[in-house]
Amino acid sequence: MTSTIADRLLDWYDRHARALPWRARTGEPAPDPYRVWLSEVMLQQTTVAAVKPYFAAFTARWPDVAALAAAPEEEVMAAWAGLGYYSRARNLVKAARAVAGRGGFPETEAGLRELPGLGAYTAAAVAAIAFDRRAVVVDANVERVVARLFAIETPLPQARKPIRVAAETITPETRAGDFAQAMMDLGATICTTRDPRCLLCPLAEGCAARAQGDPARLPRKTKKKPKPLRLGVAFWIERDNAVWLVRRAGKGMLGGMRALPDDGWSAQADGSGEPPLPGDWEALGRISHTFTHAQLELAVSRYAGDGSPEGEGEWWPLARLEEAGLPTLFAKAARLALA
Ligand code: SF4
Repeated sequence: MTSTIADRLLDWYDRHARALPWRARTGEPAPDPYRVWLSEVMLQQTTVAAVKPYFAAFTARWPDVAALAAAPEEEVMAAWAGLGYYSRARNLVKAARAVAGRGGFPETEAGLRELPGLGAYTAAAVAAIAFDRRAVVVDANVERVVARLFAIETPLPQARKPIRVAAETITPETRAGDFAQAMMDLGATICTTRDPRCLLCPLAEGCAARAQGDPARLPRKTKKKPKPLRLGVAFWIERDNAVWLVRRAGKGMLGGMRALPDDGWSAQADGSGEPPLPGDWEALGRISHTFTHAQLELAVSRYAGDGSPEGEGEWWPLARLEEAGLPTLFAKAARLALA
């Protein structure tokens, strides 16, 4: 069964692989590890469609790992703005510097794990895809396919271990990188979350969930607790076609990113957080934003006086606001203020 699944899947992949900018086509040499690593970091929690323009912009601006290692962290953070999960960008810079310092990427999964901020998934993916090492690569797509193939009833996240054990049994000794990408493609295009297209699936024969008749019910998931709600106020201070922006403290949420001044997200429910300037403030409305661990309701207030903010910050021209690298939350607040 082991070789049969891998053989059938690789045969399908040779004919149906998605063409993606960070991939080598079947039969071509393995892709540049820098591009594989960059794409895998960007793809965590993020769709292929959202990643493509960022990948193009990053590789045009920083074509290799040495160039990225030499980039100031703030510039990388600004270029990352909009992709979310900003700790990924900070870790990207750290890992790039470590790779440049040692003269290239380690080629093994264990060696890759030693790079700062590089987790088990990324190490396995880079080892398999860029260096053709046998590694068991399990992302959310692969989890879904494996849970269905083996009809694993344990709900996620507890199912991660049995899924990994099952994935290990079907990972081939050769072409592990292609196998990993084939599983990802199968999950993204055929074995989809709500509507698996079993009739087109190369693994239909021998799929336990399909045999049971309702594959879409797997993987089961433990019900998530609702996220805690945080409240905050962002302050819009505008003058001479420029807006006052600050740099967020290095640690904590959105650390190191350019942003509107805010009240630390500890405001009262009525949006009456402490403003950076005394005087008249006009309530413009609210925006909502979902973080990994919390839901944020952010009121946006516009300054209606003629005082000047104190402390560190900069007047940023409104005409170039897109270039400020505001994270999505503050980009939403800015859109509200400018509407
Ligand atoms: S047969 Fe259906 S459920 Fe099973 S792996 Fe293929 S698409 Fe998924």
